[in-house]
Amino acid sequence: MNAQAHASTPAIRTLAQVIPSVATSDGAGVKLRRSIGNQRGLYLDPFLMLDEFGTENPGDYIAGFPPHPHRGFETVTYMLDGRMQHRDHLGNVGDLGPGSVQWMTAGRGVIHSEMPLQESGRMRGFQLWLNLPSKEKMKPADYRDIPSDAIPVLALPGGGQVKAIAGSAVVGDVSVNGPINAPTAPVSTDPLYLDIELPPQGRFEHPVAAGHTVFAYVYEGSVAVGPDGAGKTLPTQAAGVLAAGDRVVVNAGANGARLILLAARPLREPIVQYGPFVMNTREEIEQALSDYQSGKLTQAA
Ligand code: FE
Repeated sequence: MNAQAHASTPAIRTLAQVIPSVATSDGAGVKLRRSIGNQRGLYLDPFLMLDEFGTENPGDYIAGFPPHPHRGFETVTYMLDGRMQHRDHLGNVGDLGPGSVQWMTAGRGVIHSEMPLQESGRMRGFQLWLNLPSKEKMKPADYRDIPSDAIPVLALPGGGQVKAIAGSAVVGDVSVNGPINAPTAPVSTDPLYLDIELPPQGRFEHPVAAGHTVFAYVYEGSVAVGPDGAGKTLPTQAAGVLAAGDRVVVNAGANGARLILLAARPLREPIVQYGPFVMNTREEIEQALSDYQSGKLTQAA
């Protein structure tokens, strides 16, 4: 029996843990802040990593991410400001502009680059790594380019808005499906990915699946997470992991807030990671390295 379905479990999820982001760099020296995935081996099943990049200084992003491999999971890039270009071994070329999303399923192997399409100005967004179940880690690579205007937006009754990138956004009696959503574009971890903007003291409430892992990441302002009047503060640039329940309630502080809310079904499988390869066993990691070195990473089995 699932303990989270027990009647004594509080319905509104409280803030269980705060994972601060730390400054780091990746690619050819792109500066970013990593929260989930920052500590080696500590994942938030099925989420492996969350990076926030945000800077006005071209020196922080100009070197980009030259060609590199991935195997065994999905990478989701959400641009807030600025432009990047994706290229991969399948021949996909995608320009990522403000508000757009790139949903890339590495499966058995992708080799891609992500390079800035600008030499000045602000670059801001997120990259999320979402794990794949063992039975899907070696499936063919897939790439979905989602333009900003394909992401539905709902206004909130007290001001502000919510965007549905994955799963469905529900406000009162209104529900909209994000572009990544069963049955049109299913993902086996059944993710919910919302981007929420709240005015000062604004409130947001949303249903989540009781058994799913849920976290929020505030990128502007701050929120109190939990029942009205009893929420715990989640500061800017930290991932807040939520306890069990089937609803999320956040109340913005005096300066309002912008945050992303993520939920997904945990896989409960062993995770062995070596850089851009995430598999279930050490042997599978050795196979990935050997396939990459011999040029077979992206070849059909
Ligand atoms: Fe990558």
